[in-house]
Amino acid sequence: MTLATPYYLVDKSILLKNLEKISYLRQRSGVKCLLALKCFATWSVFDLMAEHMDGTTSSSLFEVRLGREKFAGETHAYSVAYADDEIDEVLANSDKIIFNSIGQLTRFADKSATHVRGLRVNPQISYSSFIIADPARPYSRLGEWDVERIDTVIDQISGFMFHCNCENADFDSFSDILDTIEERFGHLMERLDWISLGGGIHFTGEGYPLDALADRLRAFGERYGVTVYLEPGEAAVTKSTTLEVTVLDTLNNGKDLAIVDSSIEAHMLDLLIYRESAKLHPNAGAHEYMVCGKSCLAGDIFGEFRFETELKPGDRISIADAAGYTMVKKNWFNGVRMPSIAVRQLDGRVELMRQFTFDDYVASLS
Ligand SMILES: *Cc1c(COP(=O)(O)O)cnc(C)c1O
Repeated sequence: MTLATPYYLVDKSILLKNLEKISYLRQRSGVKCLLALKCFATWSVFDLMAEHMDGTTSSSLFEVRLGREKFAGETHAYSVAYADDEIDEVLANSDKIIFNSIGQLTRFADKSATHVRGLRVNPQISYSSFIIADPARPYSRLGEWDVERIDTVIDQISGFMFHCNCENADFDSFSDILDTIEERFGHLMERLDWISLGGGIHFTGEGYPLDALADRLRAFGERYGVTVYLEPGEAAVTKSTTLEVTVLDTLNNGKDLAIVDSSIEAHMLDLLIYRESAKLHPNAGAHEYMVCGKSCLAGDIFGEFRFETELKPGDRISIADAAGYTMVKKNWFNGVRMPSIAVRQLDGRVELMRQFTFDDYVASLS
């Protein structure tokens, strides 16, 4: 079957490779792994993911509901701030709630009295190459950091959540950060039942020392007598998905340009925010093109890539790494047709899961 482009294509057999590493880590270390829905919320593949993960974590009421309705296992609730009219539904749909501040914990102390509660702690160190994604940036609102203040509410909670890594592929730096966390918060962690170390550890990447990570996590859990959670987002879905597009036009304005039936701003916004090029494989050959989106944003450019042959209208291009922070950010800018969602099943069949229409565009505004 040929599907009309543009569409995101989730390849379950590649996804499964990541999931098998997650399963291995869980078995060897005893940690529980929860999918961070803010990174990836394409629920058509949740059944497969739930076979290898323990549940989901969330950043809002809608995410917590999605996790509860579509993903088997535990459902953790976290948000930078809950509103008064959300809290009942959040509690009704979660197994644990993690408050971002002592202020929120106190505000909802009565309502959440019988719930498993945790607090986000900001260790004021991090691994992140971007200030916009750095939880330890100056004046960060993400979590409490004052040990003495945290001590005053420790009896109201049974766990901490630390999230301070971002695409960290370096085990030693992760381990060093954990050392610092232990030095500062170890005496408090001894009084708790569970610790989440958040996401951002790139342990499904090629060559990552998975055994060393597993052993470090197991020792950490045993030292404090706690259940350890990880909250992988990107690591769970990395490389599993492509954005399939078609060339609509080519021109030469000093460089060879190819315009495709998609838009980086609408369909891969994360790359634009971080000023990164898209990825395209094999990216080899004698012909170089700047691949551009069809929105009217001047900088709607996926990147410059090499091709074996000249491009012409109708040619297909497959843009790599379109899962994490990509499908969750798609939008209707310029009214560009929203990519459909297709899944390559484990037997190789490609199945169309969702198509978006003019009516969806209209329904997104009023
Ligand atoms: C973003 C986030 C995650 C997932 O991060 P990845 O880098 O995608 O693994 C996990 N936990 C929290 C609290 C987050 O904010």
